[in-house]
Amino acid sequence: MATDYDAPRKSAEDETDSIEALKERRSDNQATSIDVDESDNSGFELAGADLSNVELDVVVVPQQDNEFTCMSCFIVRHQSQLDHQGEFGPVCRECAA
Ligand SMILES: [Zn+2]
Repeated sequence: MATDYDAPRKSAEDETDSIEALKERRSDNQATSIDVDESDNSGFELAGADLSNVELDVVVVPQQDNEFTCMSCFIVRHQSQLDHQGEFGPVCRECAA
């Protein structure tokens, strides 16, 4: 009986220790995951900055005074590509051909 009485005691103590150990491990895991996220975010920010610079270079195409927007293909073309002024606006040589 003595040995049977000691056995559950030990297991109960072990369970308590294991639960506390699990809590400590969980907190450790959370801290570790947060550190990983921060490092990942910094990497994404760098990549986003590079992409935004590329986008600006492509998007900024202001129409110059010597250019016109073809009313048929809606492409900004140089005045040398102007064929004639159509019913709705300038028409480029490609569209007039
Ligand atoms: Zn055109």
